[in-house]
Amino acid sequence: MTTAGPTSEMHWSRWGDPAEAGPLPESAFALVDAFLGTSETPAVAPEDVRLSDPLADELVAELAEIVGSEHVLLDHETRLHRTRGKSTPDLLKLRHGDGLDSPDAVVRPGTHDEVAAVIAWGVRRNVALVPFGGGTSVVGGLAARREGYAGVVSLDLIRFDRLLEVDHESMTALLEPGLRGPQAEALLAAEGLTLGHFPQSFEYATIGGFAVTRSSGQSSAGYGRFDALVVGLRVATPQGTLELGTAPANAAGPDLRELVMGSEGAFGVVTAVRVRVRRLPDVKVYEAWRFGSFAEGATAMRTLAQAGLLPTVIRLSDEAETAINLARPDAVGGESSGGCLMIAGYEGTAETVAARRTACTGLLADLGGTNLGEEAGQAWAEGRFHGPYLRDSLLDVGVLVETLETAMFWSRLEEVYAAVKQALTGALGESAIVLCHISHVYETGASLYFTVAARQADDPVAQWLTAKAAACDAIVAHGASITHHHAVGQDHKPWLAQEIGPVGVMILRAVKDRLDPTGILNPGVLIP
Ligand SMILES: Cc1cc2nc3c(=O)[nH]c(=O)nc-3n(C[C@H](O)[C@H](O)[C@H](O)COP(=O)(O)OP(=O)(O)OC[C@H]3O[C@@H](n4cnc5c(N)ncnc54)[C@H](O)[C@@H]3O)c2cc1C
Repeated sequence: MTTAGPTSEMHWSRWGDPAEAGPLPESAFALVDAFLGTSETPAVAPEDVRLSDPLADELVAELAEIVGSEHVLLDHETRLHRTRGKSTPDLLKLRHGDGLDSPDAVVRPGTHDEVAAVIAWGVRRNVALVPFGGGTSVVGGLAARREGYAGVVSLDLIRFDRLLEVDHESMTALLEPGLRGPQAEALLAAEGLTLGHFPQSFEYATIGGFAVTRSSGQSSAGYGRFDALVVGLRVATPQGTLELGTAPANAAGPDLRELVMGSEGAFGVVTAVRVRVRRLPDVKVYEAWRFGSFAEGATAMRTLAQAGLLPTVIRLSDEAETAINLARPDAVGGESSGGCLMIAGYEGTAETVAARRTACTGLLADLGGTNLGEEAGQAWAEGRFHGPYLRDSLLDVGVLVETLETAMFWSRLEEVYAAVKQALTGALGESAIVLCHISHVYETGASLYFTVAARQADDPVAQWLTAKAAACDAIVAHGASITHHHAVGQDHKPWLAQEIGPVGVMILRAVKDRLDPTGILNPGVLIP
């Protein structure tokens, strides 16, 4: 089997490949020091992180009977690596030695039947099960509530790493959920195919995680959100197996796939995902454009989307993000000559790329854009997965960095943008840096993705939670969605209830109560 991407586990207290962990580049350090001030803020040693007590011996022995003793792990390192996700509060808690949300054991079933048996065991023994894909959740999706349970076990899908079937005629593939982004792409590439799903967490996030969080990748304009790629699902639930997606489209009642996508492990464990695939592109071209303002660039994006002429990748940084050059995440503090930077990328055959590029170029120029050429676009493409590593280097020097996102219709996008910015600066102080970009667009609207940097207060977790709550309040007050692609987890629950209202909450609870009556699947996550 071909595999690709980082082969190591993620760093226990940082984003990504441990080999990539490093200090801030000197030029960036000087800039950050001047704007926010710095102070060394090292993490504790991994062996000093306090974890929950390991699972009771009797329960461990029962699990071992189901999956084999080599697939039940209790050691500190394995449990530490399965503790929470990768939001800034998650990282800060670990850096300070708090790992009390750790699983009491990690179980690694290898087949659908073993997953089903582990679920049945969890029900029998009242043990909470937390499905674990890549561990990249940024919304508290992996920190189950433990009160009332005999233990909390991480149900790690790492052994589900195969491409099961390819249907070249229908252009679909059946993938196992534990495949990380690069592994899935490598397996599909061997068949001349691609999923085209490249979220910033691509290196570590998994197929199952993409499906149940309704992820959206950087090429969503061309390939679609992940939920638009899923044609079928196999799910193990406490009530039995759910198999969905027998035809390309149907009118057979409400689409139950939609109930599973976005369910974040609270309704069942996804053990196979059938996806739509595309041919590997022959050509990939990325170029940069400058617009006079964020509003002008957003109008250009809307015009393209409504003309049905979107590039494969399209993103627009606001003035602040352009100035700080986070549109090129590998180079903080590059020269900026004002305005707002847009990246437009085209993928496909030589003919389709040429045709689409010509049409988009004409429209973008007519709408006031200045073409900056391919160099800046290529630099974005090369640095596209490096941004998150920078967050850790900033945490090391006492700077708080975190992101949040939302989505709104075009007619109220600017209003939401202003309200969220104001909420964040109001909570964090005028010295806080608030950057924003648009990276997912539709005919009807777009998502806004904010990046925030501020000097860490004495309690940086509380500092961020206050700012995040202010931003979430502003989001719902202005009618926008609490999340465009990060999902709900524990963190967005209160605002989800406001977004979907009491009847929506009732439906979610009813499904949960019927599928998982003892509530052992990811307790505390998703359901308000
Ligand atoms: C630096 C960074 C960048 C990110 N960029 C993006 C981005 O560009 N776009 C985007 O959409 N998201 C992004 N995210 C968020 C995150 O990567 C996504 O939510 C991703 O889809 C989670 O996948 P995962 O495999 O890591 O899932 P995990 O984090 O392991 O799990 C997420 C949730 O799904 C459940 N779950 C996982 N696998 C299964 C399964 N097989 N069956 C049932 N439940 C399951 C878990 O219990 C948990 O509740 C980013 C996160 C980080 C840290």
